[in-house]
Amino acid sequence: MKASTRAAVPPPPPDPFDLSVEAPVPEAVAAMARHVTERFPGTDADIVRRAYRVAEHAHRRQKRASGEPYVTHPVAVAQVLDELGMDPCGLAAALLHDVVEDTAYDQADIERLFGKEVARLVAGVTKISELESLDAERPKEAAEAESLRRLLLAAVNDLRVILIKLADRLHNMETLDALKPERRVRMARETLDYYAPLANRLGIWEFKSRFEDLALKALEPEVYWGIREALAARQVQQDAYLANAIALLDRRLREHGIHAEIKSRAKHIASIYRKMRRKELPAEQIYDVLALRVLVDEVATCYLTLGVVHTLWQPVTGEFDDYVAKRAVS
Ligand code: MN
Repeated sequence: MKASTRAAVPPPPPDPFDLSVEAPVPEAVAAMARHVTERFPGTDADIVRRAYRVAEHAHRRQKRASGEPYVTHPVAVAQVLDELGMDPCGLAAALLHDVVEDTAYDQADIERLFGKEVARLVAGVTKISELESLDAERPKEAAEAESLRRLLLAAVNDLRVILIKLADRLHNMETLDALKPERRVRMARETLDYYAPLANRLGIWEFKSRFEDLALKALEPEVYWGIREALAARQVQQDAYLANAIALLDRRLREHGIHAEIKSRAKHIASIYRKMRRKELPAEQIYDVLALRVLVDEVATCYLTLGVVHTLWQPVTGEFDDYVAKRAVS
């Protein structure tokens, strides 16, 4: 009787500073730890699990606007960076990125628990957040936004800080629906002003496209969903077309002794919308939604490849651009 009563009382949570206690972590976190062990053999992957436990403890009384436990946010941010191949310290810092700004833990705690490198990364992210909140209150000119982007870049001397901040913004944009309309709009604008151009400049086009699409969804939902629908209607047909085109091109390139990697990509929604406005056409009449990217080793091989491509598919007059020669940037 007594024994069962005692068993019903849950044990106290482990002391967050006693990191020798082996507490279980969610599968998402365990998976990240496994990935870094594979990517960086011989490094301390346990830092990822420990960072999670401290973040979980630090944010334990906080919730996201969606009502979920706050720690789901840093975990999602770290997962994005795990996919990009981030190192153990970078992942730990991602898990801890809101701890100094939003909880009772301070910079010294992070350094004591995780060392200088992680502490420096967290400090960098915190500094950017401070710059942001200083800046959030007033509207700004394009030139000013540009100088702020420079400031952002200058404020950090470690690219990982920017990557964490970009992943942070991405998850915040993905969970925008839980916010009030005014905040949603402000965040979307800010994302277009700073984060999409920053991702573009760093060459992380996947982020840039996602930022632009998520901002469009928040700012002009009818446009966004309209284009999504128009695309969905063509999807199945397009997938089959792409698969055939890749197989055909791959065969021809091999015949010409060209070693290439062929990738397909679908134009993102914001980019389709830009073209619709430029050409004053409905989504149904934007035809270059699909693209193949052929990656080769040498510039000269680009032109050989282009020759092969043009024997398979004739160029449309006025639609061909040589970006190797023109070095254009969008
Ligand atoms: Mn955050």
